[in-house]
Amino acid sequence: VKEAKEKRSQIMRAVKGKNTAPELVIRKLIYGLGYRYRLHGSHLPGKPDMYFTGKKKAIFIHGCFWHGHSCKRGNRQPLTNQAYWTAKIERNKIRDNKNLTLLFERGWSVLVIWECDLKKNLTPLIQSFLGS
Ligand SMILES: [Zn+2]
Repeated sequence: VKEAKEKRSQIMRAVKGKNTAPELVIRKLIYGLGYRYRLHGSHLPGKPDMYFTGKKKAIFIHGCFWHGHSCKRGNRQPLTNQAYWTAKIERNKIRDNKNLTLLFERGWSVLVIWECDLKKNLTPLIQSFLGS
């Protein structure tokens, strides 16, 4: 049990913390494309990982497991506490959708980048989202 708990907190740190590896990859990419951004908009619904005030655009970088993405990684079943995780991820999905709606209502555009998207070339997507 102890081991499972430790494992769980490791996973939680990996997927929920700020400044995760996927975030750093995306930041570097976006910075390299010449865009300047702000981080962790705590005044905005869902605290977007990156946001662009003048453009009213926000980017979330979501871990597939934690946010319940319908991909291989997101569908992975935890070995322990399955009911706990299923319920928690379901709540996360509901909360994510609510935050997106709130941002749209305030006139923000939102791009969600999934952890599994990092394998792709994201430059065209980011450029078309952020514009010039
Ligand atoms: Zn995914």
